[in-house]
Amino acid sequence: MQLPKSRRRQKLREKKCQYPGCDKIFYGIHISKYCAEHRQDRYRIRKRSRPENVNIKNQTIQHPYTEVTMTVMHCKLPGCDNQFEVKLYPRQFIYPKYCPEHRNEYKRIRHLQRIGREDLIEQMKCESDSVELEYGSGADVLGADDDMTDVA
Ligand SMILES: [Zn+2]
Ligand SMILES: [Zn+2]
Repeated sequence: MQLPKSRRRQKLREKKCQYPGCDKIFYGIHISKYCAEHRQDRYRIRKRSRPENVNIKNQTIQHPYTEVTMTVMHCKLPGCDNQFEVKLYPRQFIYPKYCPEHRNEYKRIRHLQRIGREDLIEQMKCESDSVELEYGSGADVLGADDDMTDVA
C-alpha cells in the first residue's frame, strides 16, 4: 500500500525495544529504538569513539605506499556511482568509505530511501546499535551507584 507522502506526520508502528534484555513492544516512529522507559536519560548508552567503530563510516585500506599517494575510490553506498579522491598516507590505513556527499548519515538515509532500499537503512542503524550496546551493558555504568553505597 502506498501512502501519500505530502503529509509530514510520522506514522507510529509497533517496535521492539532494543535495550539489552528488554524486548518490550511499544509504538514509535520508525527511528525509535527504545521503549518509553529506556528512552530516559539514565539509560542512555554512551557512545565512544574507539578504533573498532571506524568501519561504519570508514574502511581499512592496506596500501603499500611509503609516500603520500592519491587514489580514486568508489563510494561504498549501494546505488551511488560517485568516485572521490583519497590521499593515502604512509602507515595510515583508515580512510573514508563514502563519497563526500554521503559521509553524512542523514544523506545516506535519504539516498537509500530514494532507491527504495529501506532494508539497508535498518541494517545501517543496526550496525551503529551494535557498537552502542557494546558499552551500554558494561559494568562501568553501574559503578557510579556502587560508589554511593560505599559512603554509607
Ligand atoms: Zn525497554
Ligand atoms: Zn556516495
